Amino acid sequence: MRAHAHPSRLVILGHPVAQSLSPIFQNAALADAGFAQRYTALDVAPNALAGTLRLLATENVGGNVTMPHKQAVFLAADRTSALAARVGSVNTFWHEDGALVGHNTDVAGILATLRALCPTGVRDAQCTLLGAGGSAAAVFVALDELGCRNIRVWARTASRAELVAERVRVNISVFENVEEAVQGSGLVINATPIGMLDNAVPIAPALLPPHAVVFDLVYRPGTTPWVRHARSQGLRADDGLRMLIEQGAEAFRTWFSAEPSTDIMWRAIDAHAVT
Ligand code: NAP
Repeated sequence: MRAHAHPSRLVILGHPVAQSLSPIFQNAALADAGFAQRYTALDVAPNALAGTLRLLATENVGGNVTMPHKQAVFLAADRTSALAARVGSVNTFWHEDGALVGHNTDVAGILATLRALCPTGVRDAQCTLLGAGGSAAAVFVALDELGCRNIRVWARTASRAELVAERVRVNISVFENVEEAVQGSGLVINATPIGMLDNAVPIAPALLPPHAVVFDLVYRPGTTPWVRHARSQGLRADDGLRMLIEQGAEAFRTWFSAEPSTDIMWRAIDAHAVT
């Protein structure tokens, strides 16, 4: 799905949003591609979202959406892509003749990460997702697109996992015990916030099968404790930074029908990390 006309400028809507890395790598890609548009963070409290969206429409502003607004923007959109409708959330938007159009590029970010981590595919693998919150739907859809039919979920709130899986039409098995959930899994994905702020890990890598590949949706400077531990045990592992950049690259393509430089995006993030 592509925007019919370039947005006048770009924003990321969130609350809080000051910590977002998106302005850093999107502005670098915009400058590199010769676009005059700039990308800024816009902190919008939930009760101000509807009014903000109306104002953005009058200026033909496009952008991204992060926590806690992805579902609200999906519900507010005049039109959505089939993918956003399946996932039930919008992380990328633009306007067409004043109408709000919503799309989801989180799935593309997850697909790009899984293709890099598992070059031979996950069709025959057993995959376990840890957590069943806002990101679970995009993970299920990405696994489904890759042909994975053996999906396990470890969720604190089992009913949440079952509801999401039913909505995106994917079969899952829910486990209460994390060690049982990962038994025999070739791919283990963390979509809980564990390890975001401290050195906790969702499950000790020593308890994972020796062939397991680890994908942590969480990212933080110098990678996450789970990815660090997994790599030190010889497991292939990556954090959520590639997903972040690849969802942003796909959003850039939808706004401008142009290819951004992901090398420039990575360099902007690296430069930011050392400042
Ligand atoms: P969310 O909607 O808050 O869901 C979090 C999930 O983790 C829920 O299932 C929650 O269970 C569970 N959980 C939270 N704390 C837990 C704990 N201590 N032990 C066990 N389970 C726990 O979050 P989300 O939007 O899905 O995002 C999940 C993570 O992915 C976040 O850290 C976020 O930063 C990251 N993320 C990264 C990207 C990226 O581009 N790389 C994009 C989106 C999200 P309950 O339902 O029981 O509360």
